Amino acid sequence: MLDIKRLRRDFPILSSRVHGRSLVYFDNAATTQKPKAVIDALTRYYKTTNANVHRGSHSLSNRATAQFEAARETVAAFINATASHEVIWTRGTTEGMNLVAQTLGPYALNKDDTVLVTTMEHHANIVPWQQLCQRVGAKLIPAPLRGDQTLDLKAYEALLDEHTPKIVSLCHVSNTLGVINPIETCIALAKQRGAYTVIDGAQAVAHLPVDVQKLDCDFYLFSGHKCFGPTGIGVVWGRSTLLESLEPWQFGGEMIKTVSFSGSTFNDLPFKFEAGTPPISEAIALATTLDYLTNQDREALHQHEQNLRAQAIALLQDMDGITIYAPNSENAGVLSFNVAGLHHQDLALMLDEAGIAVRSGHHCTMPLMESLGIDGTVRASFSIYNTVDEVRYFANTLIEIVTQLREL
Ligand code: PMP
Repeated sequence: MLDIKRLRRDFPILSSRVHGRSLVYFDNAATTQKPKAVIDALTRYYKTTNANVHRGSHSLSNRATAQFEAARETVAAFINATASHEVIWTRGTTEGMNLVAQTLGPYALNKDDTVLVTTMEHHANIVPWQQLCQRVGAKLIPAPLRGDQTLDLKAYEALLDEHTPKIVSLCHVSNTLGVINPIETCIALAKQRGAYTVIDGAQAVAHLPVDVQKLDCDFYLFSGHKCFGPTGIGVVWGRSTLLESLEPWQFGGEMIKTVSFSGSTFNDLPFKFEAGTPPISEAIALATTLDYLTNQDREALHQHEQNLRAQAIALLQDMDGITIYAPNSENAGVLSFNVAGLHHQDLALMLDEAGIAVRSGHHCTMPLMESLGIDGTVRASFSIYNTVDEVRYFANTLIEIVTQLREL
């Protein structure tokens, strides 16, 4: 049996007040709150361990290095990677996607080749590819969505056949819609046509188990801060045979083996892709986060998030003028909606007055907004620590706000 009340006590910020009201935090797709264990891991590191890693000449540095590399092992086990040297630290998914585009891109892509994404991608999974395509004279093509805002698998397969893309890069879960894509099928179909597959897992890791061997993709990327960890840390997992073949992308300390003015040689994996002092405390605290998640009943928490979304839909679907996006999708707990005649930003600001944090706008998915013919939505994104009472309060408050605004 899930005890959400107890779980909430792990997250100190949830007892805050905003505008005199208890905080209702429904902006989890932007960033999640942090459990005390993670906050403690950060302070403990700075109080007891802080030193630079891989320098090896004193005890503190050795301790920091051991914890830092143990964190890499934790990530590898969490996503079922075959080896920890397949785990590369980045600042987040955005930096990770730039890493993949700038290393896999020149390796895999030539003039007139194609990169396939979907219409629902975050800008972080569009712009790095767009820049790459512009540089090499390749084409970036989006696979469209169906009328119900889920991926059109038939059209996706047809585009694979028509263009034989060299790279297919897809989100596991849409940040704007919460839609969970059938990525195992998408990856298998792309691989049958010989494409490299890249998965943007930024919105998935907090909600779903990830097994990179089972997925059989070439790259899987995520951000620590979206799965209860710190900001400033992310992961690129890559297949080691492929990582070995790619050239480094950033240059400097850590990533070299030897340097002389006649030339330099580069370090082994994973360090080849980690120039400069890495985010040490963040990596260690990310491992604490993943341990925290592993100790939860994740299947039950996923059910709980789906239940919160279903309750919200049930309470709001009959509201006059409401459009709920991807209402019947496999979903990771995102309620994206608009109310006819009212601006999403006004709704978000008024919800904030009631202590409810949601996001409004295009959510870094402008092409998706364009395809839906809108300029933004209100997005309430639920997480493991949200409650049915919060959903009821949110729905009642929204109904009151809409009534008030319509009376103006
Ligand atoms: N992809 C998706 C699907 C996202 O939701 C986000 C963050 N909103 C990103 C990529 C970028 O992640 P970050 O800002 O942590 O680099």
